[in-house]
Amino acid sequence: MNNKLLRINLTTKQVSREEIPESVVYDYMGGTGYITYYLYKELEPGIDPLSPENKVIIAPGPIQGTKIPVSGRYAIGTKSPLTGLYLDSNAGGFLGPEMRFAGVDLIIVEGKSAKPVYISIKDDKVVIKDAKDLWGKFVYETEVLVKELEREPKMRILSIGPAGENLVKFACTASDNFRNAGRGGLGAVFGSKNLKAVAFKGSNRPSNGDPTSIEQVRKDIVKRAKNAKDDGHLLHKHGTSWLVKVSSDLDHYPTRNWQSGEFEDIDKLSHKEFDEKYKRIRRPCYQCPIGCSETLDASVFDWVEEDRKE
Ligand code: SF4
Repeated sequence: MNNKLLRINLTTKQVSREEIPESVVYDYMGGTGYITYYLYKELEPGIDPLSPENKVIIAPGPIQGTKIPVSGRYAIGTKSPLTGLYLDSNAGGFLGPEMRFAGVDLIIVEGKSAKPVYISIKDDKVVIKDAKDLWGKFVYETEVLVKELEREPKMRILSIGPAGENLVKFACTASDNFRNAGRGGLGAVFGSKNLKAVAFKGSNRPSNGDPTSIEQVRKDIVKRAKNAKDDGHLLHKHGTSWLVKVSSDLDHYPTRNWQSGEFEDIDKLSHKEFDEKYKRIRRPCYQCPIGCSETLDASVFDWVEEDRKE
């Protein structure tokens, strides 16, 4: 890890890099740990979540970008416009590892741009760019357009759609097209800053840890995942649809906006129904042998398969 914090101020357009103190690295480690530490340290109490005083923190985890399995999810946090409280959310796919490939361990975005912008990060080069022509586009279109503008077909894009632009308080951010950090209105905070997207392309590979030990850990986890007879195995076999009935049985299935945790017709939504009726395509996150993610439509996501050949 570089233990470097990238700070981007959208009001002043200033970009700076700061050392993350060693004590913070060891005590908070990355991901939601960093988000908790820096939000608590840097946000004034009582600020409006949709004001320039709020900040967005994007934080990969400490082993992200290595070959250790199931390390593909990144965290993103802010003060929530939905609850007025601390918020972190996370998403899988390939964006978190790409952030580490670009040498970034933590990003803090602050202030507010006067006009729509996106941030392009290619290794050491960080540029705030005009997003006038991207504003109003859905995330699928935004990803395609940013890749074209940057001439980087394999760039990873974190973006918002019209909901975030219009400050809908439960708007998500999205990456890799269908990976959403879906909680608490992160998309609205992006929109309030006139921030349409953050795009990453990196050419480095994280060097933390001893490669031999990492390879041993990787092999061990993959072996365990293959031989598992427990929840991991069922997730691999049925995808996340397996969790639907489990959630309802535990009284934890959000029914009618949480008026109940149990849904009476849950069998119609269960993995058995999906297994019988739908052919799905597995879409694992970076370095994940479980591969719980699935989609129905091959054509939209063909590029993911291309990525997996890397
Ligand atoms: S494919 Fe599923 S189990 Fe694997 S990292 Fe992604 S979300 Fe987690």
